[in-house]
Parts: sequence; structure tokens; C-alpha cells
Amino acid sequence: MSAFIDARNVPSGTVLEPDLAIIGGGPVGISLALSLANTPLHVALLESGGMTFDSKTQALYEGARVGAPYLTLEASRLRYLGGSSNHWGGWCRPMDAIDFEERSWLPYSGWPITKKDIDKYFARAHALCEGGTLLYDRAGKYASEMGPAIALGDGGVTTRWFQFSKMRGSMLPTHFGDRYADDLKRIPRLQVYLHANATRLGLNAGGKNIDEIDVATLTGRKFKVKPKAVVLATGAVEAARLMLASNDVVTAGVGNEHDLVGRFFADHPIPRDTATLVIFDGKLSPYYTEQQTFRGAILRAGLFPSEAFRRANAVMGSSITIENRVDLDDLASAAVATTAAAIGVDAGDAIAFSLGCGMEVTPDPERRFTLDTDKDALGMPKLKLHMRIADSDFAHFRQTLKELGRQLLESRAGMLRLNLKTREDWLDGLDWGNHHMGTTRMHADPRKGVVNANLLVHSVANLYVAGTGVYPTYGAANPTINLIALVLRLADHLKGGLR
Ligand SMILES: Cc1cc2nc3c(=O)[nH]c(=O)nc-3n(C[C@H](O)[C@H](O)[C@H](O)COP(=O)(O)OP(=O)(O)OC[C@H]3O[C@@H](n4cnc5c(N)ncnc54)[C@H](O)[C@@H]3O)c2cc1C
Repeated sequence: MSAFIDARNVPSGTVLEPDLAIIGGGPVGISLALSLANTPLHVALLESGGMTFDSKTQALYEGARVGAPYLTLEASRLRYLGGSSNHWGGWCRPMDAIDFEERSWLPYSGWPITKKDIDKYFARAHALCEGGTLLYDRAGKYASEMGPAIALGDGGVTTRWFQFSKMRGSMLPTHFGDRYADDLKRIPRLQVYLHANATRLGLNAGGKNIDEIDVATLTGRKFKVKPKAVVLATGAVEAARLMLASNDVVTAGVGNEHDLVGRFFADHPIPRDTATLVIFDGKLSPYYTEQQTFRGAILRAGLFPSEAFRRANAVMGSSITIENRVDLDDLASAAVATTAAAIGVDAGDAIAFSLGCGMEVTPDPERRFTLDTDKDALGMPKLKLHMRIADSDFAHFRQTLKELGRQLLESRAGMLRLNLKTREDWLDGLDWGNHHMGTTRMHADPRKGVVNANLLVHSVANLYVAGTGVYPTYGAANPTINLIALVLRLADHLKGGLR
């Protein structure tokens, strides 16, 4: 049996010597620990929080923001066992092949792995997320029993499917801490330290190996972990912070020889009410607006730009969701009547919906985190986020919306009215996916990426970073399930032997 150990009871000065230290007990740390269960590795999982929310621990996530509007750093993630899965939405979708490709029109694009490299782990990742029957885009075949897909003329936008995580015996998506605590306790060579904050990654004198991790509790205990290898699984923001703040040997910070750590931060912007969708015959299948349970899965349809459309038109990824019913004002009603008359359809029963979306942003090295002068309760420097969002990102999405509008008219099924024109329109009420990505990007070339294709930090022989921070480009798919697939691949790599 493994033990859950309260680090507040570990005497100061203790030195732990596991084979592997996993820092962070979110979906990544937990999935990795579960995957290594049947190996000879002795693993210590260090988790900052306990089993439930605690405001003093959560405050360790506070930081500053400048630039474009963004969420507060402490509100967009959670710091206790299970991490941000304790309040995630459970939306899941596989990334597309194009998301991994180098695109001549997209600077900084190109993963050192392809979609195929993680595809074989996807079913297990889906099972860990408790997504039920693996359907995704195959759902369309069965959903026709509940009504037809929106008729769209040939073109770049098609109906595709989200699938949802749902924790066994609950209405909620899988909260990895609650759901897997008992499974973790059954792993013989695993020890989970709660209330254990990693505060420093200690490089050896040559700067090429992590020799020790400093751990502190909010009650003042301090001890060290000296593992053979380390996996940093603290989420994209905190991974950058820990690497930048561990600057006693390499002054730029661990793995930051090429000034990349903390740069290229990204999230999925969610502009509200981007367009109004009008369906002329007044009929829309329910799976577009609400989750539906069928064939052992929970699903909802969205509208997505195809890979071919993205390639041909050099546009970023996005997902379009159909949200609430809206009333048309006089001007919009007149536009609908005029358009319907022009194409010879009856729009007497027309209904209208507001469209939502999740957008992919272009990689930007200046959208970044730096260390701030303020310190947290453990003496660690806080982060400052320099947030930016380019007008071209909105323009990419507008191009996809226009294509959808064209296809609706071509099929004579409906029409689209674009609601957001100026930058101020787009930023007004802008929400975000809370999908932190990009701060420790993956690239085969050490000058262009922090980690290699195996998630190993280029300049450190025994430090892996496992998190969405390694995404060099981001796609529009919900990140967590794809991330877990990537982490299961890392588990296979680690099973091959620690260096
Ligand atoms: C409101 C919200 C809704 C979301 N909805 C979705 C969704 O619908 N679909 C989707 O795909 N994704 C969603 N996400 C994103 C998803 O939650 C993350 O992708 C996922 O949790 C990342 O897992 P992780 O293990 O990498 O990091 P985290 O979940 O952030 O876990 C990191 C863990 O590390 C611990 N930690 C941090 N610093 C230290 C330290 N110094 N020492 C020790 N431990 C530390 C933390 O306490 C935490 O437990 C959502 C996120 C939020 C906030």
C-alpha cells in the first residue's frame, strides 16, 4: 500500500530519495503515477495542496497581469489534489493532425511529434477522463436518430463532436483527486506528499542535472527530495515559475539558456455572441445546444473548420458552439426577410441563436510570464503576465464564420449575421478557456524549444516537463485529454528506464 503523507508532519531536514519525483498532483501527475503503478520505480508525488480547497494554499497562485484583459492567475486554476480538474468543464476533443504540423504561414509552428504519436494513447486517456463510449465524430452516425445535422453547402465548416467527462457516480466531470485517491493508495511504491510545495529545483554545479528539490510547507517545515529524475507537472504557469525562480546556478533559470521559459503563453479566447445564426425553417436538432446522452456517452455537436479549409486559407483552429435562442431586432428581421426572399425560401418560422466559440491564437513570444519583485508566503517570487492578443487572431476566426455563412446560404438552410467588428467589440466580455499553454514549448532544436519530443528539458539530463506548457501551437481542441495521452506516452518512455 502507498501512503498519503501530510508533509506538515515531515521533520525539517529530512531527505527523501525516490527514483522519480512528480511535482504536482493534477490530472497529469495523477495519470502519470497511475501509469507507473506496475513498475519497480519508487515514486514520490509532491502536491502543494491537500484533499480540499484551502485559501492560503490557493493564494500561492497569485500574480500580476499587464496588457490585454485576462483572468486573475489565482482564479483560473486550483491548487489542491486534482488541480484544476476540481472545476474543469469536462469538454473533450482530439486535436487534429494539422495542429502538429509545421505550416509555412504560421511562425513557430511544428511539433517534433505527430498526432499519430499520441493517437495510440488516446483511448486510455479518454478512459481516465471517464468519457464513456469512445465516439467523438462517429457520433454523427447515431445522432441522426435525434434529428438531422444542419444542412451546410460544400465548404470548409462541418458538424463535429465534443464528448464529456463524467465522474463515476456523480453529475460532475472527473475530479482526478477525488476519483483516483484510492487507486493511488493501492500503488505499492508510491508516496503522495500533501501540503508539499516544491520551491526550488536544485541544479548540480555543472547545471546539467537536478540533484535536489527544496520542499516547504506553509507551516514552516522544509525538507529535500533527491530523486534520480523529476517530472514537473504543476501546470503551464507554475512550471515556468519554478524553472525561472530556480536561478541560483543558471542565472536565467533552469532550462532557460535560450530565454524561452515563460514565453509563448496561450489560452483559448472565448468571445461572446460572435454571430447570430438564423435557421430559416425553425428546426434545430437538440444536440447542437445541449449535451445529449446516447450510446453510453455524453455528447454535443459544434461547427468546426476542416483541416483542408485551414490549410487552404491559412486560418487557425476554432470551434463554434450554438448557444442560447435570441430574438431578432427589427433590423435583423428585415435582413432575414430580404435574404430569404432573395434566395426563394420561406423564413416565416425562422429561429435565431447566439454563437459562441473557442479560438486558437497564433504563437507570440512576447505573450509571456516574467518573475515579479513580489514574493509569496513561501518566499518564492510571484509571476507577472504580459498578456497580448492580436487583431489577426480575431480575423482568422471571422474568416471561418464567413465561410459558415456562405455555406448556410448555399444550402438555403439559414444565414449568419456577424456581430463583432472592432477590436473593442471582440474584447468586450471576452472570456477564456482557462487552458494555459505554451510556456515550456517542445521543439527538436534546443534554441527553439525548452523540451524535446520526450518532454525532457534540453539542457538538463533528468528533468521532464509534463503539461500543456509544452504545446508549441495550441489547436482549438480542449487540451486536457490530449495532454493526458501525451503523458501516457511519457510514462512509456520512463518505463524504458530512467537516465
Ligand atoms: C474553470 C476551468 C475549466 C476548464 N475546463 C476544461 C475543459 O472543459 N476541458 C479541458 O480539456 N480542459 C479544461 N480546463 C483545463 C484543465 O483543467 C487543465 O488542462 C488540467 O487541469 C491540467 O492538468 P495539470 O495536471 O497539467 O495541471 P493542474 O490541473 O493545474 O494541476 C497542477 C497541480 O500541481 C500542484 N502544484 C502547483 N504548484 C506546485 C508546487 N510548487 N509544488 C507542488 N505542487 C504544485 C497544484 O496544486 C495542482 O494540483 C479547465 C480549467 C479551468 C480552470
